[in-house]
Amino acid sequence: MRFDVVTLFPEIFAPFLTTGITRRAYSSGAVDVHLFNPRDVASGNYRRVDDRPFGGGPGMVMMAEPLEKTLDVIASERGHRAKVVLFSPIGQRLDHSLVQEWANSDGAVLICGRYEGVDQRFIDAHVDAQISIGDFVLSGGELPAMVLLDAVARLQPDVLGDADSHHFDSFNPALDGLLDCPHYTRPEAWAGQAVPEVLLSGHHINIARWRRDQQLRLTARHRPDLIAAARAAGRLTAQDEDLLASIAIMVG
Ligand code: SAH
Repeated sequence: MRFDVVTLFPEIFAPFLTTGITRRAYSSGAVDVHLFNPRDVASGNYRRVDDRPFGGGPGMVMMAEPLEKTLDVIASERGHRAKVVLFSPIGQRLDHSLVQEWANSDGAVLICGRYEGVDQRFIDAHVDAQISIGDFVLSGGELPAMVLLDAVARLQPDVLGDADSHHFDSFNPALDGLLDCPHYTRPEAWAGQAVPEVLLSGHHINIARWRRDQQLRLTARHRPDLIAAARAAGRLTAQDEDLLASIAIMVG
């Protein structure tokens, strides 16, 4: 899987690509990340990549030409044109299922906008998909690119320490799309608070049931929509439904 990131600030990516559990995914090439700065192919003494907006108004707009030239460089390196993704507030909202789609793909070109955004003619000519990471505005597409790359890298086999431990993460279909349970570590008592007894019992079946109950409780409380989706998908057992009914009675 290869991702080509087009950014005016490639240096932001260096610590991200070499730190933490996902480093292995990038260094092994499982998620092969290449960085391209449109300034490198921009023309003129000043290597201009942005200009003032037609029609006036504040800020600058990223020019189409240096971005298109960068796509040409990437296409000649790859030997073909890959899908082009632009990060933008108007894009499809990123969630687990979209991350999973990209995790199963062979990669893409990721365009990081800056300033007021990108000349619309470049978007119309070259962009295949737009992705948003939420209803707020950032100063650039670099953080969204890192968000997507990190989430995709986590889902690659052998990237997390324990095999397939992403299966125990929130939103994962392996967890029936529920939220993760709470976690505890040493010491057994901290600030007057004990660790739930069952976790110290060594009784694997009880521990698994406790965790499932916690996932259901947390999800029912914080994201009832995910309970409804799990139910609609036939993912909840009779035991799950009993627990949910008992919570509903307690809540009133
Ligand atoms: N004027 C634009 C915002 C530009 S912000 C507007 O109001 O919609 C500069 C760049 O940051 C954008 O081109 C985009 O690449 C990135 N960006 C900002 N917010 C984002 C978000 N929520 N999701 C994805 N990318 C975002």
